[in-house]
This record gives sequence, C-alpha cells and structure tokens, in this order.
Amino acid sequence: MENNTRISGEWISGLIRDFIVTSPENSMKTKREEAAWEEALVGFASGADPIWQQYKEYVGAFHWTPWEVFNQHCPGESAGPEELTVVSWVLPQRKMVRMANRRNRTYPAEEWARIRVYGEAFNMALRRHVAGRLSEMGHAAIAPMLVSNWTIVKSVRFSYASSWSERHAAHAAGLGTFGLCDGLITAKGKAMRVGSVVARIGIDPTPRFYTDHRAYCLFFANGTCGKCIDRCPVRAITEKGHDKEKCRQHLGRSRKYVKKTYKFEGYGCGLCQVGVPCEAGIPVTAARKALERGELPPPPPPLA
Ligand code: SF4
Ligand code: SF4
Repeated sequence: MENNTRISGEWISGLIRDFIVTSPENSMKTKREEAAWEEALVGFASGADPIWQQYKEYVGAFHWTPWEVFNQHCPGESAGPEELTVVSWVLPQRKMVRMANRRNRTYPAEEWARIRVYGEAFNMALRRHVAGRLSEMGHAAIAPMLVSNWTIVKSVRFSYASSWSERHAAHAAGLGTFGLCDGLITAKGKAMRVGSVVARIGIDPTPRFYTDHRAYCLFFANGTCGKCIDRCPVRAITEKGHDKEKCRQHLGRSRKYVKKTYKFEGYGCGLCQVGVPCEAGIPVTAARKALERGELPPPPPPLA
C-alpha cells in the first residue's frame, strides 16, 4: 500500500531553520533584541525503534514510548508505532552565550539565564510550530513536552525523571550520547537545548553512529577528562555521575541571584556545559571522525 505520510526530512529541517530565522520569538529579550538561537541539528527516529522499550526498562515504566504519548493525545488516529516518527532537534548555544558563562564560577551569566528562560520559550514556540504545521497538512502531530499530563516522576535510579525526556529522544534520533554530567554531547557540543515532536509521518531514521550511549564522553571512552566535576560549584558531579537533587537545589538558589543581579525572573546554571572539552563538539577523536565519515567508530583497543 502506498504510504501517503512520507515527508522529506529536509523539508522538516527547513521548517525548523526558517522558524529560527524568521520568528520574532527567537529573542534574548535584550535591548538589542539579540537572537537566542542561530542554527539547529535535526534528527529522526522511528516510533517502532526498540530503543523506546529499552528506555522504559532503563529509565522507568513511566517514560512514554512515542506510540503511548501519540495515541493518548490523538485518539482518533490509532496509529501503530511503525507509522510514527519522532522529530528531534538540538539548538546549540551561541558562542557569545558560552563565552559569557565560561567566566562564571557559581551562578550563571546573564546571557545564559536569558537563554534558559526566553530561549526555552522560543523552543516551546518551535514545538508548537512544528506540530501545528504538520497538523495543518493533515499529519497528526504532538509535542510530548506540551501535553497536559507530561510530568516529573520520582525515580529510584535517577532521583527524578520525566514522562518524556528530550535528551533521550535526541539520543534515539542519532544526535548525541550522554556525558558524565548527564548532558547530551552532540556534534555541536553539550551546551545546547533540545526539543521534539511525535508525528504520523514516515521519514527515514537518522543513523546512530554510536553503539555505546556514552561514546562521546572522554571519561567513559578512555578514563580521562572529568573537567565537568571541577566546573560544578556544588559538587553535584563526581566520578559516580550527576546528583540531580544537588543540582536542582542550586538551580533554585540561582533564581534569587538572577533576580537580584540581572533584574529579571530567570534562573539557570550550565557551568558544567562550558569551559569543558565537550562544550562545542565531540571531544573523543575517533568517535568524532567516525561521525564525520558516517561510520560507526572502531572498537576500543583490548585492555592490557
Ligand atoms: S567534561 Fe569531560 S568528563 Fe565531563 S561530560 Fe564532557 S567529556 Fe565527559
Ligand atoms: S551539575 Fe547542575 S549545579 Fe552543577 S554545574 Fe551542572 S548545572 Fe550547575
């Protein structure tokens, strides 16, 4: 049977990039109305990819598969997993925002805090725009982060987790792997924000040029680095990983700092995302080169 839901991945990538260039919502809300974002990386994952079930087993049963969230919110469609595509995007932090946050040691730079609030407001608008445009064209679509029952859940393994993780969606869509600090290291680095939409469309999935979910982090690839440990002002990162609760408490304290210092309602931190080798690219050379060639990286050398 002819699949009339086929859409070009290039068209969707263009939709996202056009919105970045043309939307007045792409703003840091400074006097000069500087843009929050300049570019996007875009990837696609099939709703039938076994990785979604693996997330349920690893993150928790509460983590939705694309099929679950789509059919909850588009009940008239009753699509099977293989009819769905997850469109995922990465918005890399601009150089001037990264440079500003590099200078800070305890709380975020004003530029970073602006992106956390106004840049993410644009990301929300982008989710609405992509889902809305596809729906107008007759392809049912939803943004999992925008549905009414998206929630944060207490988790034994992760202290807390959400019913849809944008970083996990991006990992499934071939856009990156996790670092020691829990951030997703992408071809444009770890300093970025992510978004996604689930739609009844057929697009060839983006290949994942990694077999290990931590392949791009130097700490896991060869036991070096650990620079994000030293960047964290509250020791929320150790060689054992990321303490989400300590991090959350620091983010809470940052609200007071941002209001008092920069005079707007904002927050953030991201100090572990800058001034580190994974800030703006993939620091593991073999993995980066393999991605550039469009191949899986060679297996690591055997242990001596
Ligand atoms: S700073 Fe180093 S250890 Fe931390 S996530 Fe990046 S590559 Fe991994
Ligand atoms: S782990 Fe949290 S508190 Fe620590 S630097 Fe990163 S964002 Fe800040």
